[in-house]
Amino acid sequence: MTTTATKWVYRFSEGNAQMRDLLGGKGAGLCEMSRAGLPVPPGFVITTEACRAYSERGGQLPEGLWTSVQEHLGEVEAALGRSFGGDAKPLLISVRSGAKFSMPGMMDTVLNLGLNDETAAALAAETGSERFALDAYRRFIQLFGKVVLHIDGTKFEKLLEAAKETADVHSDAELAAADLRALVARYRDLVVAETGEPFPTDPWVQLERAVRAVFDSWNSRRAIDYRNYNKIPHDLGTAVNIVAMVFGNLGDDSGTGVLFTRNPSTGAREIFGEYLQNAQGEDVVAGTRTPQKIAQLGESMPEVYHQLEGLARQLETHYRDAQDIEFTVERGRLFILQTRSAKRTPAASVRVAVDLAREGMIDEVTALQRVSPDEVSALLLPAFDATARTDAIGAGRLLGRGLNASPGAATGRIIFDADRAAERAAAGEVVILARPETNPDDVHGILIAQGVLTSRGGMTSHAAVVTRGLGKACIVGMEALRIDLDSRTATIDGRTIAEGDEVSLDGTTGEVFLGRIQTVEPDLAANHELFALLGWADGVRTLGVRANADYPRDAAQAREYGAQGIGLCRTEHMFFETERLAHVHEMLVNAPEHARLQAAVEAASDGPAGELARAQEALQGSQAAHRYLAALAKLEDFQRQDFTGILDVMRGYPVVIRLLDMPLHEFLPSHDELLAEVAVLEATGAEPEKRRQQETMLSLVSVLREANPMLGHRGCRLGVTFPEIYEMQVRAIMTAAADLVKQGIDAQPEIMIPLVSHVNELRALKPRLEGVAARTLATAGVDVHYTIGTMIETPRAALTAGDVATEAQFFSFGSNDLTQMTFGYSRDDAEGKFLGEYTERKILPANPFQTMDVDGVGRLIRLATTEGRQARGDLTVGICGEHGGDPATIAFCQAAGLDYVSCSPFRIPVARLAAAQAVLGQRERDR
Ligand code: PEP
Ligand code: MG
Repeated sequence: MTTTATKWVYRFSEGNAQMRDLLGGKGAGLCEMSRAGLPVPPGFVITTEACRAYSERGGQLPEGLWTSVQEHLGEVEAALGRSFGGDAKPLLISVRSGAKFSMPGMMDTVLNLGLNDETAAALAAETGSERFALDAYRRFIQLFGKVVLHIDGTKFEKLLEAAKETADVHSDAELAAADLRALVARYRDLVVAETGEPFPTDPWVQLERAVRAVFDSWNSRRAIDYRNYNKIPHDLGTAVNIVAMVFGNLGDDSGTGVLFTRNPSTGAREIFGEYLQNAQGEDVVAGTRTPQKIAQLGESMPEVYHQLEGLARQLETHYRDAQDIEFTVERGRLFILQTRSAKRTPAASVRVAVDLAREGMIDEVTALQRVSPDEVSALLLPAFDATARTDAIGAGRLLGRGLNASPGAATGRIIFDADRAAERAAAGEVVILARPETNPDDVHGILIAQGVLTSRGGMTSHAAVVTRGLGKACIVGMEALRIDLDSRTATIDGRTIAEGDEVSLDGTTGEVFLGRIQTVEPDLAANHELFALLGWADGVRTLGVRANADYPRDAAQAREYGAQGIGLCRTEHMFFETERLAHVHEMLVNAPEHARLQAAVEAASDGPAGELARAQEALQGSQAAHRYLAALAKLEDFQRQDFTGILDVMRGYPVVIRLLDMPLHEFLPSHDELLAEVAVLEATGAEPEKRRQQETMLSLVSVLREANPMLGHRGCRLGVTFPEIYEMQVRAIMTAAADLVKQGIDAQPEIMIPLVSHVNELRALKPRLEGVAARTLATAGVDVHYTIGTMIETPRAALTAGDVATEAQFFSFGSNDLTQMTFGYSRDDAEGKFLGEYTERKILPANPFQTMDVDGVGRLIRLATTEGRQARGDLTVGICGEHGGDPATIAFCQAAGLDYVSCSPFRIPVARLAAAQAVLGQRERDR
């Protein structure tokens, strides 16, 4: 509960950077800058607590707030010798939102507040420029009308366009005082027409309504969308910053700009920014005029530029991070309006963190915390294939260039409206959002677009800033692009494209192409900063990071990314290759008959000798048994080559090879299709040989068909009924390892038995497999160190982990199946059927196939780890489901005490960083 004694307002000298919760990021920044002695215009901050109190009271200003605002504004008046609403030296103010977390362009700002006919005349007299005063006045009515009175902004734009047409000029700056006076009158008529009330002329009424509008904008659709996307809580509220206006549009010795202390695209240590002479801040952000490079300020106003450089360094050192600084020059005098941690591309994020650490500004641990695993994952973004790009240029598909605002390659259907883009994306299309310029109302379209293209605006325009933060490809300021929103077409240098046509954007070069261009993965090895950062991460993390890789090619990639072994090699993928499938079919067709004859031999072994001999004869004479073993021999050859390749690439590191685990039906043709084919062949009487073949296949498929294949005859169950398959695989693994060891290569196979639910399954399999391994090594004449372990993929295996560990030297959590079986959700169907709705309606906090369900599946993992280790002290425990590359799951694995995580090669860099951050997070919690 708040009381009447609550302090709702802070002057800049009363706050500091630590007070972001109460004063918002911008407010805390203004206070901090003011304390550091920077040239900040005077002002004060209304707290986020006041915003929350306003919402709680159903839109009523909390008691005491207004008196306090009046007092503080009085102090600003005194500091500048100006008066709010005064008829000489009037004080104008800006009213801006500012939440705890930066939400670029999300919240509304009103500038030049305090203007009416009298104060505008006073301002004209003071500055000696009636044109300037009227321009400020018309901007104020326009912004206030849109933001506070909720009048459609395009209606003001249309009047402005009409005024330019009447005056026969091209830019706003060319409008004369008389034109602007007429425009102000038309704006005020528009307000009456739209709201039924005159424009408020009392500055105090203006201020109160603006403050309310800022509070209300916290709950605007675009702000809510942004918070949902960025997982920002909805109950924080926004602060309101009230600052005296300084003017960048008082002539050529005035201007406004944005400055980054490091290049926000590459992270290079250079001042980077844009400046607009004789302009107001919103001209830069709105991107309606294309600004100059900041270096040009060095030529036109060297002293100001020099001062700015000094301040940039000072601010960077003060905040120990790259800054994004808004400044205004009023008649040669520099004012800093805002500084904040600069939004940057993922590449820049890594480079800045590493450079700052190397410059001694932060330590390595801080650098590790500055980069998010998502940024690392974005660095694995695709780029256009160089040849495909050259071909596209050769074919005349290069439409033109704009400013390369946010790197990455994107290809999709061009859509000219954010709502339509969102609709088409929801229908499954990949879209590129193209707009004359973007504003916060377009955010929902930007969020779903693959890339963004604008015809206006600079590197700090809305589109540029938002996409950079999202790691999406973006090109801005492509002036040759003319978008006609009515006909839904665009022209570029005489070429017309229609909405829905495919285009490709290269956000790294700024090139726009017609049609689709093939993309390739980035060259991570060339990213030295990333490798430095990951090296530091390796020094901190305690979890091992292994890869899920099935082929030597993937294993080599995984090594390059820093994998310390293979955590899962799925052998069934090798069985799928075309030239092997015939042997796989041959094996499966004949396996049941072989198993039947083999069982008969075993049953007869205790009986009379004659019976045993007959059973053995039947087995030996069986065509089916012969075919089965011959197919296995073929497959063994292939497998030996596979394992040699992967063990060789991973020399010196463990390689977990999982024995066959695949529902049998996935190896076989579709039952229904076969049935139809056989029926046609029968009816027509054609191709009798083919018909016989297909009939045999059909009867096999019918025998193997299961109602719930994922719960069926797969994993070790297959190994138990057809043990020769696992024996063949173990022979291939050990032969491959032995050959390598003979060549002096350190091969470390770890044999993994999948889908165990009872320790007796291991007891049935393990001795046979150990026997095969021993015989293979004896024949080869070398010793190879190997282990046999199991996957924990069924709830029962987890619950009886103590028993299972007596037979397994290692555990690897197959969290895909473990999630499937714990929830009872079919992993192949749930995501397409109901999981989307479940997460949307918050029935589940997240998709459990992506992020570990810590309460359920996680509990089984903890229990199995503890009880497994109690039974076997040196049990190695890892995870190899898709969750292994998810940062939140990695933090869980750290807390649960696992030895390693295993994920796709592509996620290895992400996992290395996330594992280090998990340790740092744990240290922080322990403190
Ligand atoms: C798992 O179940 O988590 C696993 C890694 O095995 P697969 O996805 O191949 O079933
Ligand atoms: Mg599995």
